[in-house]
Amino acid sequence: MLKLEKVNAFYGRIQALRGISLHVAEGEIVAVIGSNGAGKSTLLNTISGMIPARGGQIVFAGRPIAGLPPEKIVRLGISQVPERRQIFSTMSVMDNLILGAYHRYGRDGRQAVERDLDFVFEIFPRLQERIGQTAGTLSGGEQQMLALGRGWMAKPRLLLMDEPSLGLAPLMAREIFRVSGRLRERGTTILVVEQNAHAALALADRAYVMEEGQVVLEGKSSDLASDQRVQKAYLGKATTPPSSPSP
Ligand code: ATP
Repeated sequence: MLKLEKVNAFYGRIQALRGISLHVAEGEIVAVIGSNGAGKSTLLNTISGMIPARGGQIVFAGRPIAGLPPEKIVRLGISQVPERRQIFSTMSVMDNLILGAYHRYGRDGRQAVERDLDFVFEIFPRLQERIGQTAGTLSGGEQQMLALGRGWMAKPRLLLMDEPSLGLAPLMAREIFRVSGRLRERGTTILVVEQNAHAALALADRAYVMEEGQVVLEGKSSDLASDQRVQKAYLGKATTPPSSPSP
């Protein structure tokens, strides 16, 4: 469904993506893990057209999308849940959700949008309880639910999620990942970038590890989770063999 080949991206003269190649098949959940500054957010922003790709190719559903404006990319079926919950803080919960679907009324009709709204309220009853509340006054976790709900209301074929667990209590982060699994059951393909490698590898089918703007490892999540380099660098596990003498 999505294929990147040797994609570069720059901020001025700083190169943030260095020849990134990756793919996401329809129905998959794919994670990209890596430490601070590895280029994960830049990767998503480049796919969604917010940052121009320089060199390389980005193909979505058989169509090259590098160079298209972000609103066109949304219309093709890619929707991004941005990092740090960029919701419209002075607007109500309901208005935020409706705005997520603004481009669908003409295409899908009001009833389809209302059905999806019901689904968002089914997976996040908390949002329904706070339907008229100003989004900026929601708790951090509730704002993250709203950001995810808004991304879902765009009814994307591919949902890009940027650090969905950032700043959330473990229970709330688990809830967000559980819901992500349900979105996939409803036919949404997901590319998620995460510093929380534990959670990301538990959720995803496959994963890529990024360091300094490059993909350094890739594979099935279960294989990466048992890879010593990944365990040491991202899962906080020591790799000392059990037979070594204790200090
Ligand atoms: P984190 O997990 O900390 O959010 P990340 O993996 O998402 O990190 P990016 O935000 O993509 O990393 O940043 C990649 C590199 O690009 C970093 O070195 C960062 O300092 C740099 N960078 C990001 N945004 C800009 C910008 N607007 N201008 C200049 N450099 C930037």
